[in-house]
Amino acid sequence: QPYPWKLSNTQEFYNICCYCSGGCGTICSVSDGKLVNLEGDPDHPCNIGGLCPKGAGLAGFRKIITKNRQEIDHPYRITRPRVRRPGSTEWEEISWAQAIEEMAHAIKKTRDENYTPYEDGVVVNRCDAIASFGAAQLNNEECYLAQKFARSLGCVQIDNQTRVCHSSTVSGLAPTFGRGSMTSHWSDIQNADVIMTIGSNNVECHPLSSRWVHKAVDKGAKWIVVDPRFNRSAAQADIYSKIRPGTDIAFFGGLINYILSNKLYQKDYVLSFTNASYLLNPNYKFNPEDGLFEGWDAKKGAYDTHTWQYQTEEVVPWNSDPGQPGAWINAPGVPKFNPPSLKVPKKDKSLKDPNCVLNVMQRHYARYTPETVCKVTGIDPEVLEEVYSTYASSGAPEKTATILYALGQTQHHNGSQNCRAMCVVQLLLGNVGVAGGGINALRGEPNVQGSTDLAVSSPDAPGYLAWPIAQRHPNLSTWMATEAYPDGFYINKPKFMISLLKEWYGDNAQLENDYCFDLFPKRSAKKNDTTMATFYGMNDYICKGYLVWGMNPCHCSANAKFVRNAMAKLDWMIVADWYETETASFWKAPDMDPTQIQTTVYLLPAALLYEKEGSLVNSGRWIQWRQKALEPAGQALSDFEILTKLFNRIQQLYRKEGGVNPDQVTKVNWDYRNPEGKLDVKAVSQALNGYDCKTKRLVNTFSELQGDGSTASGIWIYAGYYNNNEARWDPMEQPMTRRSKEDPSGLGLYLGWSFAWPANRRVLYNRASADVKGKPWNKDKMLVSWDGKKWVNNDVPDFVATSKNPDGSVKQVPPNNKAFMMTWEQNARLFAYPMKDGPLPEHYEPFESPTKNLLNGRGTSPLILFADKPQAKRGTKEEFPIVATSYSLTEHWQSGTQTRNVPWIVQTQPSPFVEVSQELAK
Ligand code: SF4
Repeated sequence: QPYPWKLSNTQEFYNICCYCSGGCGTICSVSDGKLVNLEGDPDHPCNIGGLCPKGAGLAGFRKIITKNRQEIDHPYRITRPRVRRPGSTEWEEISWAQAIEEMAHAIKKTRDENYTPYEDGVVVNRCDAIASFGAAQLNNEECYLAQKFARSLGCVQIDNQTRVCHSSTVSGLAPTFGRGSMTSHWSDIQNADVIMTIGSNNVECHPLSSRWVHKAVDKGAKWIVVDPRFNRSAAQADIYSKIRPGTDIAFFGGLINYILSNKLYQKDYVLSFTNASYLLNPNYKFNPEDGLFEGWDAKKGAYDTHTWQYQTEEVVPWNSDPGQPGAWINAPGVPKFNPPSLKVPKKDKSLKDPNCVLNVMQRHYARYTPETVCKVTGIDPEVLEEVYSTYASSGAPEKTATILYALGQTQHHNGSQNCRAMCVVQLLLGNVGVAGGGINALRGEPNVQGSTDLAVSSPDAPGYLAWPIAQRHPNLSTWMATEAYPDGFYINKPKFMISLLKEWYGDNAQLENDYCFDLFPKRSAKKNDTTMATFYGMNDYICKGYLVWGMNPCHCSANAKFVRNAMAKLDWMIVADWYETETASFWKAPDMDPTQIQTTVYLLPAALLYEKEGSLVNSGRWIQWRQKALEPAGQALSDFEILTKLFNRIQQLYRKEGGVNPDQVTKVNWDYRNPEGKLDVKAVSQALNGYDCKTKRLVNTFSELQGDGSTASGIWIYAGYYNNNEARWDPMEQPMTRRSKEDPSGLGLYLGWSFAWPANRRVLYNRASADVKGKPWNKDKMLVSWDGKKWVNNDVPDFVATSKNPDGSVKQVPPNNKAFMMTWEQNARLFAYPMKDGPLPEHYEPFESPTKNLLNGRGTSPLILFADKPQAKRGTKEEFPIVATSYSLTEHWQSGTQTRNVPWIVQTQPSPFVEVSQELAK
């Protein structure tokens, strides 16, 4: 007897999973306002219908099935605002109107009483008493507004999940390539000849990635897993190597030495596209005796890096002649600034000069012999040889290898240098910018890429522009002169900053007032304003108010007990989430006495991923859209609505009552409505994409953004993701919602599916996939190619492939060596002088290490920085002789706020556990 088909008469909505950064597509089937079914989107190129157990359980946020098989609303979902009053042991329900009123007044009071207008004689307009945390769970539009909200109050303590997971990726990759993001994308893994998973358990933690790894393996690729634990990825790999935790740089240093001493590097690639042939200052050196690079200043606890620079010859001035890329500075409306010039590095392509970067590297890594590396890492010599020879085989021009890594590389005292070491290996083997290559940072959160892009972290402005620092950028002209260079992408940076100011302050931003640059609160070079420092600020009663968007630091931050105690000193805290988190209820923890805690806590019900719309970015930089399938449960609101209601009320209060520097709040443009006058998140999407200020026409690319105040853009790198002017209120008619599965390249590029920033480029630095004359290293993996007259491409060029004639017509730019246009050299850096702790990755033992450093005379890096007080008890290696590592399971996600609330997920993995060796267990 067939049952009626449960999906008949349902309406389908596309959505994206809210767990890892795979960006798996889902379909929500809805009937009568109820979610009838949720399953993997069979057309989606990332997951092709599949979902891991977490993704398959997404429907469980809203409804659960009871023991007697009844479907009921989730009993733990927060559906009405709550407040916990000072000294109280209970939550009280509160209306939205009352909550907004109280929160707006609390924020205003804290800001007005704790404001720093000047520092070192510079206008800083800063409030250090309020901090904002999160979130990689929010959609892009909400991320943008979360940081805009906080910064418009004067806050600079802004951070999100990326601080805990992949901030060291950005600080390792960006100084090498110019950008800090995963260089390829999920379906590109299938093109690799060799895959190395290191510091990741991708089968378990990014399950969809294993589909693409297995595709490559089925075509003959070799898969290497290096990890302290024999994990689920190792169980499936061709080669498994154990490694002592904290010795990754020794491992990679040995691989660099193996590649250099056996001449296995891809010479043409290295000479054309990296700084291998650049000449360094002859006074640069590294001393293995004391483990220090040249320039160590023990008093300052920092390096003086002037000897780490290149030898230079000619100076290229900024060319502002008509028709030149730098001519825009002469347009009316552009602030006057001192255009910088460019010092061209000296090179020796013959590599005979001992000061060539490659020769310096050769000397540096000669100490990393296989014997020493085996002693340091604990790797078996035969396994090491097999790993090195297999991986280095990808130095052949036609072969490519990819590295998949995650927190096993980043969450170390030397996480940034771990990432750098991987970059150096990949550059030597010619594996960056090619199909099946790259440094693939497997991001852990659904929108940690987007939240990082949108600068939900203190150092950046959206699109990886530098957020102003008092001592470095006292005014807009200085910012322009400091951040720009007369060539490559840098020549346009000021245009992006001025367009951002136009979005932020609307018509209030004018040339006469430096486009309101002074209203941006400036960071201080003397202060740390990242996550842990914020908790120390709370502990010292400096930070008094805390905004928490979809984050749970009481469960996932280091030293959670300390975090709880610090929160107990706050005046107020605002948490928006789906369920009551350990953070919202920190005052209920077993070691807390709520009657003694004076913190007022607001817990706001936030809409689920399928109860709101908006875009997010997966690890491969694909911007995708979530359709709203259901009305939010109870009184829940999207974070967009919460932020808007609260900020509008704060603006009203400042207009009515005044206060400290009201302009910083009242001059902010926060008008995100549709033509019907209703709040509409799509208005934020349009603002992020960018538009002409007069006509409101959406721009197609970032090259349309101007430095004369005529354009506005929340984030220049997203330009083109939402640019259909004819259907501007229909997100399903925008580039990011395209659903073409066509892949003429056969390389899994899917240019017609969604939109990858920037400009829909799928493989970053793809110019490097062809030699200096534009001939692909491997014609079967062709991304771009010069046919003698023009570029013929499978991917969108990530380089200057065309330019304009004076009459406006397009002309082709013949091949050159500028494959990494996001560095000012336009080459990648094997030797990265911007790294503050050393231009070449060097092995130092972890702080807790029980052994001597066998590679240099220094145990631990001199630059380890502890955010906490020096007197904090940290323990000794004698007290704590066991190395413990933490890891995730397929079924649970991060702090578990979500998965611990899905009953059928909890059934599969009911509780945390510890794995120990039999010897240790005894
Ligand atoms: Fe896909 Fe990751 Fe979600 Fe699993 S958790 S369904 S792999 S996006």
